[in-house]
Amino acid sequence: MDKCCELLFQMMKDLVKNAEDVVWLTDIETVFDRLVDIYQTCGGDMNILHKEFPDYPICDPANTETLIFDEVISIDPGDTVLCDWCNKDWTAIDISGGFMFESKATCPECAPSMEKKIAQYNETHLIKSRCPADMSFADWIRDVIR
Ligand SMILES: [Zn+2]
Repeated sequence: MDKCCELLFQMMKDLVKNAEDVVWLTDIETVFDRLVDIYQTCGGDMNILHKEFPDYPICDPANTETLIFDEVISIDPGDTVLCDWCNKDWTAIDISGGFMFESKATCPECAPSMEKKIAQYNETHLIKSRCPADMSFADWIRDVIR
């Protein structure tokens, strides 16, 4: 691990140690999530992280896809389109809406509440793109985003 990762890891440990409640259990990205993102991006060892914070939901036990660490969208070999927040399968649903929040596919159902929270966090600039009105969320993710 380089210095940057070590420092980040220390920050995460401090955050967890001083937390009054579980720090990562919110329905939008937390400070901890952000640190993990940066940690992972600069090459931090996820096994070490998982060892230190075994309760942190790195993996969704329901499937092998990661909840927090999805690279882009949940990419299956087929055409499957899943929301990165609620995990709903949108593959065969012909509804438009939703957006990309950073690299997370946000479905039409999650979009309204997410948008409010994103605004509260002053992170509207992280909404990278929006599904065009004449396209379904699934097609947009499949054909444009991927
Ligand atoms: Zn959703």
